[in-house]
Amino acid sequence: MTAVSVSLGVGPNGGASSPSAPASPLAAAAAEARERAAARERAREERRARLAGVNRRRRSDTELWEIARRGQEELGGSGPGSPDEATAEEVIAWAVREFGDGLAVASSMTDSVLSYLVSRQLPWVDVLFGDTGYHFAETLGTRAAVEHELDVTVVDVRPLLTVAQQDAVHGPDLFERDAEACCRMRKVEPMRQVLAGYEAWATGLRRGDSVTRREAPLVTWDSSNNLVKINPIAAWSDDDLVSFALRHRLVVNPLLNDGYPSIGCEPCTRRVAPGEDPRAGRWAGLDKVECGLHV
Ligand code: SF4
Repeated sequence: MTAVSVSLGVGPNGGASSPSAPASPLAAAAAEARERAAARERAREERRARLAGVNRRRRSDTELWEIARRGQEELGGSGPGSPDEATAEEVIAWAVREFGDGLAVASSMTDSVLSYLVSRQLPWVDVLFGDTGYHFAETLGTRAAVEHELDVTVVDVRPLLTVAQQDAVHGPDLFERDAEACCRMRKVEPMRQVLAGYEAWATGLRRGDSVTRREAPLVTWDSSNNLVKINPIAAWSDDDLVSFALRHRLVVNPLLNDGYPSIGCEPCTRRVAPGEDPRAGRWAGLDKVECGLHV
């Protein structure tokens, strides 16, 4: 095999640039991007080191339950959807005050709006990504772009078994025969284990996602995972989300613009037709609308 080397440092006459020649605009942009990424990585390392040296006590479930109750009272206004509910920024400010680094963000890498919003008030916040092993290439690309572009720490939450190991133990394509078991092993249980290390999690859940989420509060006690659950953008519409992402030039999953308004694992997500329920493409044909994390 012949090795091919490609140099971006091509001089004005097509020859190799000398060390003293000015860098091409492309090379300068690449160097700047590398430096930005390296600076982000250094900041993440510093935060990890800082947190490793702190002996944080996770408050008891009773204490956290009381904080959730108080948060709902302070931020929830007259109820879900009421005009006196707190804004997303106000909810996040409250959460950062109450929990600091005990707060994590969960992201399906459909977009980066919530991660961005939280990172503005809590730089290098942990962003938990359920890496099931079944994601679209576009979703994995979005995850990489989020890590590159935002002041966050992406944490890949992986199941105990790889897809190959699961196939060997439970038979191939378990999602076709028992989606509940597959979601439980690949999403719900790994996330539950990781969430046990935090006091609160922020999710991008929105009331417009589906009928089951229509009454989602801004703050609640998550009795399935035993921590405070915060839904800062619960009141946002699709238009709110898209226009915010465009205004702030945020990373979004390209599948959103390709007929996938709700994006999960590739084998369990199909395109939806215009006018169809946005979540109709998830587990289509099955009596299943949630992976189990948000129930
Ligand atoms: S969405 Fe499908 S592939 Fe992904 S964990 Fe659930 S059942 Fe398995």
